[in-house]
Amino acid sequence: MIDIDKVMNIMLSEPENEIPYNSVKIPLIGRIHFVKDQEGQYYSLLVLAYWIYGTFSALFIIIIPGVEDGIISTWVLYGYLLVAALCLMSFIRASLTNPGKVPRYLGSDGAQTNWNKCQTCGRMRPPRSHHCRRCGQCVTKMDHHCPWINNCVGESNHFAFMQLLLYAFLLGLFSFILVMCHFWVFPKCVACNKDAFYIKHSIWFMYLEFLLSLNMALMMGLQLSQQHYNILINKTTLERIASPLTLDNVRLRKCYHSYRELCGKGLVIFWLFPVGRRRPLLPYALQYPV
Ligand SMILES: [Zn+2]
Ligand SMILES: [Zn+2]
Repeated sequence: MIDIDKVMNIMLSEPENEIPYNSVKIPLIGRIHFVKDQEGQYYSLLVLAYWIYGTFSALFIIIIPGVEDGIISTWVLYGYLLVAALCLMSFIRASLTNPGKVPRYLGSDGAQTNWNKCQTCGRMRPPRSHHCRRCGQCVTKMDHHCPWINNCVGESNHFAFMQLLLYAFLLGLFSFILVMCHFWVFPKCVACNKDAFYIKHSIWFMYLEFLLSLNMALMMGLQLSQQHYNILINKTTLERIASPLTLDNVRLRKCYHSYRELCGKGLVIFWLFPVGRRRPLLPYALQYPV
């Protein structure tokens, strides 16, 4: 009988003097995971620019003038700020979390009998791990590499990626509804500063906001449903590409059980907040047989 806790502690402990390549040291915070891939960094900057443009336009052209004129409730302002903040936080969390560090190999014993050797980095790794060339490491339960977050999606940050999809979808939808109301429902603003550049040219700002928010809501909504389905059938994106499903071999798991495994231990309410550290029920490295 294996003492799971003991094995887990040894496997998950940091080997001495090992500094991960994809990490940077930040004063006061310490070492954080950061993928040194220039192309991915450009993609991430594009996402940040998207977020800044979208929230700036919705806040300063629609919501704040609307609140000042008394046609929009302050709750809309608070709600929008909350969704925008949660979206940004989950983006940062998904980007800067190691997607699934391969634990230490303790030898062909018990839980590790079905491990195999990575042909690229030579590390012993548990089933369902893949080597990501962009991240330069093996990732446990790798889903896919996402250039938009400049990181892989794997066992340890899949929950943050799901939160990002959810809040990006909500933010896109919220912005789209506001733009529609701006065009068709709300009267022209009275209290706003009409000399400001973004108010003078608000029509162009709003055309672009319309396209961006619609695109975001559709893309994220699609991705969110796809990922939700993958989680229920316990398949990663890579596994689905490798062996497409037929209707005969689909087995849906219970929603609660699937998300409990994805988000780890802790209160259900925290499944919605990109804060704190994910505490796995049992890392994939110790699950057997797979
Ligand atoms: Zn590898
Ligand atoms: Zn990767």
